[in-house]
Order: sequence, then C-alpha cells, then structure tokens
Amino acid sequence: MTAASTAPTAPRPTPDAPPPAAPLPERAARQREVVAALAALLPAHSLLWTAEDTTPYECDGLTAYRQRPLAVCLPETEEEVQAVLRTCHRLQVPVVARGAGTGLSGGAMPHGLGVTLSLARFNRILELDPRARTARVQCGVRNLAISEAAAPHGLYYAPDPSSQIACTIGGNIAENSGGVHCLKYGLTVHNVLAVRGFTVQGEPVQFGSGALDGPGYDLLAAVIGSEGMLAVAIEATVKLVPKPQLARCIMASFDDVRKAGDAVAAVIAAGIIPAGLEMMDKPMTAAVEDFVHAGYDLTAEAILLCESDGTPEEVEEEIARMSEVLSHAGATALAVSQNEAERMRFWSGRKNAFPASGRISPDYMCMDSTIPRKRLADILLAIQDMEKKYGLRCCNVFHAGDGNLHPLILFDANDADQLHRAEQFGADIMKTSVAFGGAITGEHGVGVEKLASMREQFTDAELEQMERLKRAFDPLGLFNPGKVIPTPNRCGDMGMMKTLAGSLPRA
Ligand SMILES: Cc1cc2nc3c(=O)[nH]c(=O)nc-3n(C[C@H](O)[C@H](O)[C@H](O)COP(=O)(O)OP(=O)(O)OC[C@H]3O[C@@H](n4cnc5c(N)ncnc54)[C@H](O)[C@@H]3O)c2cc1C
Repeated sequence: MTAASTAPTAPRPTPDAPPPAAPLPERAARQREVVAALAALLPAHSLLWTAEDTTPYECDGLTAYRQRPLAVCLPETEEEVQAVLRTCHRLQVPVVARGAGTGLSGGAMPHGLGVTLSLARFNRILELDPRARTARVQCGVRNLAISEAAAPHGLYYAPDPSSQIACTIGGNIAENSGGVHCLKYGLTVHNVLAVRGFTVQGEPVQFGSGALDGPGYDLLAAVIGSEGMLAVAIEATVKLVPKPQLARCIMASFDDVRKAGDAVAAVIAAGIIPAGLEMMDKPMTAAVEDFVHAGYDLTAEAILLCESDGTPEEVEEEIARMSEVLSHAGATALAVSQNEAERMRFWSGRKNAFPASGRISPDYMCMDSTIPRKRLADILLAIQDMEKKYGLRCCNVFHAGDGNLHPLILFDANDADQLHRAEQFGADIMKTSVAFGGAITGEHGVGVEKLASMREQFTDAELEQMERLKRAFDPLGLFNPGKVIPTPNRCGDMGMMKTLAGSLPRA
C-alpha cells in the first residue's frame, strides 16, 4: 500500500482530542504519530482510530475492564502484518493481538498507548489433508469452522471450547484453550503441530513442524499458551481426529456435592477416561434449566455429565462401567441418552452455562482454576463460605474430569463495591485453589485478571525466569505489556505499567 492512497483524508475524523477536564496531550500526540505511520501501510478500511470505531475493541469477554487503544489494525495480508509490526517496533508502540475477543481474562484488552492487531480477516482454511489428518488454517479461523470443514471426511478438531462458534484458532493457541472433550483428547497444545507467524520485530518465524518431535528447544510448547506475549500467530497446522461412531452421555444426580466430587475421582480411579466429565451445582442447573430446558434434575445438589465415545461395543461397555461406579458413589438418579437428540439436549445446558448466568445477573466474573480432582467437594464448600463472606452469589460449573473449575461470580459492575467484592472473591478462589494443590488457571489464561494471583502460584525466581523468556522473544516488552507476568519494570521507560496494570480502567 502506498502512503498516498491510504493516508487519512479530509472526510475522515482526526485522532481523538484529549478530554478538556483531564488533558492527555501525551496520548493525543502519540496517537497522531502512530496513526499517521500506520495509515501509510494500510488501506483506510483496515485502520480504525476514532473513539466510535475503537470502542467495540475496548475489552474482551472480561467486560469489567476496558481501555481504548490508539488504533486498531485489521490487516488482510501477511505483508501488512509484517509492516505494522515493523513500524510499531520502530516507534516502540505496544501491540496487542486479537482474535474474536472472547477471552475471559482480559488478554486481548487493548493497551492505552498501544495498537490492537486484529487477525479477524485471516479466516481461510488453507488446506485439509484427510490422509495426514491435518488442517492448515489461518489464525482468524473460528474453532468450529475447522470441524465443519473436516466433517465430510469423517474428521474433526477435538479441542472444543464452549465459545467455539466464535473464538479463533489464534486465540485458542494463545490461551492453550480446552473444552469438554479435552479430558480424553487433550488441550490445544496436544492438537497443534506447527504455528507460523511473526516476531515483534516483524520477522517470519515457525514453531514446530509436521514431525512427531523436532531438534532443539520445544518452542511450540512455549508459544502455545503464551497469551500473545511472544509472537503473533498467522497460520497453524492442527491435528484432526476421526469422529467417533457413537457417543452417549450419562446424566447423574447427587444429593450432596461431596458425593458428586468424589464420584468424579472414582470414575478416573477406575481407569476410565470419559470423553467428557462435567459437573454443575444446584444454582447453575437452576439458571441453565430456566434458559434452555435441558431436562436437568433440579432437586439434585449437583449433577455430572459423563460421556463415552467410540465404537458401539466400546460405548456400551464404558457406559455400563461408569454407571456402576456412579451408583456406587451414591448417585440418586442416572439417565443415559438414548439417541443423539437427547445427548445434545444434555449438553445444551452445560454449553449454555455462561449465557444462562448472564440472564440472572447484570454481570458475572468467570473464574478459572484447577485443583486435584479429590478436592472438588472441598473447593465447592469453600466457595459456599466465600459467598457469605463477600455477600455475592456464585454458580459453579466444572470440567470436573480435569479438575478445572469455572465459578461464575454474580455481581453488578455499576456498583463499584460489588465489583471490588467480586475481585476479592475471585482472588480468594485462586488462593484457595493453590492451597489445595491446584493452579490459578486451567484454560482461560492469566491476562490482566490474574496478574496478582501469579504471586500466589510462583516464586520471584520463577517469575523472573518467565520474564527472561519473554525478553528473549521481545526485548522491549512490546507484545501485550502489563499482562501475565507481574513484573513492575516490563515497560521501563515508557511507563506503560502505570497506564495499564497499575490502575486498571473499569467499565
Ligand atoms: C461463552 C464463553 C465460553 C467459553 N468457553 C471456553 C472453554 O470452554 N474453554 C476455554 O478454553 N475457553 C473458553 N472461553 C474463553 C475464550 O473463548 C478462549 O480463551 C478463546 O481461546 C479465545 O479466543 P479468541 O479468538 O476470542 O481470542 P481473544 O480473546 O481475541 O484473545 C485471547 C488472547 O490471545 C491472544 N491472541 C489472539 N489471537 C492471537 C494471534 N493470532 N497471535 C497471538 N496472540 C493472539 C490475545 O492477545 C489474547 O491474549 C469461553 C469464552 C466465552 C465468552
């Protein structure tokens, strides 16, 4: 693109003027400089900078925190991505990559003095190889679109976040996303063979290959889950797996959360790896049932969904074994799906747990931590105590087989005190999860949401090693600054921590 054809012209509004009450001359000047440089690289429809145009990008799924970037770039070609990165690096401008913005930890929340780099237009499936059982896709492709494209070959992409209709494979890679079926089929890291993209300097780079193992450090594993801190992903090669001939699901009711939690541990201890093993507590089933009428047992204190897939013979045998373990663990009722429509109905409730929570509260904060399976009941009971302590309600849905919790704290973000209590509630869940031998994230990442909780999990020495890895990829700390690693000096002279993590802007 030439500067002449793309520079802003008279009808386009000028970059934001600072509000008179709180002048921000530094931001306005910086915005003029950055927008002018980017306008020389991108066509007009690929560069947004007015308040009106950038507001839709001001947050991700963690809507309590918002910040407008200086500009949003929507490149269409790799050359444009490269040019944007080179220019941002030259100007020392922070870059926040963005997929669909469904992240729940603020990972794609913009930087106030930075550029948001949307990969939304990289949405093509480049190659599908049924014999190799792989797909090569651009990183803005939606997760579900891969399985839809692979379906005619009897294949699918296994990691299935509940947001799969919208979230992108680039976001999945950055967050190492999971889903209901990851207990059996693995997380994103187990299903991606290679990632191609650019360094912060705009240099092309590839991590991994089609081979089972490669020489040198496993940088693919470092990049997957790195939350946009190490590289921008442009293209990925993913594994496809055969669609199982049959899947059936057991819905098991329990009159006590401890029995339900112990039943999860018992299923795994019996040597069974279900295709999915999910748990919901009573407040969650009530919210869901009201929304999608999945047929859940509303008298139960907790329900489990246990899925088996494979050949009809394998499924029959596994369903019988799981039913036995669940009954022995104290299930008060068991229902086994009799056909595909019924199985989908059972799952419809679980898949709609988050929107169902949105119906019963102005806002919810979806936490994400992991604990050893045997402590599932303990954490549920601890969360019940926290509800009283912080005066807020909480619905619980778990990828129970993985020990991955998703407590949904209900609050009203318009009430500053409620937001404050919700944050404290969430931090308490993180702290308790670590105390129970777990971790502060299972699949949603750290983002800005769990920066402080990183100190619950890691020592200063461990955080320092992470920071050094980050610096090896990104010496100036320009990719997604202020996220993931709670280190005060990341942005040094540019004072970015002051504008971001130092005082998180709230909705
Ligand atoms: C209703 C709902 C249900 C959800 N269910 C699940 C679930 O079951 N399992 C689960 O794991 N998550 C779930 N999530 C969270 C979210 O969907 C995932 O984290 C998802 O992977 C984010 O993808 P995205 O394209 O929206 O990424 P974004 O939110 O846009 O970005 C997420 C992070 O990835 C980085 N990033 C994005 N694209 C790139 C790229 N190309 N290169 C480098 N960095 C990049 C961003 O900088 C950011 O740090 C859910 C969210 C919602 C709203």
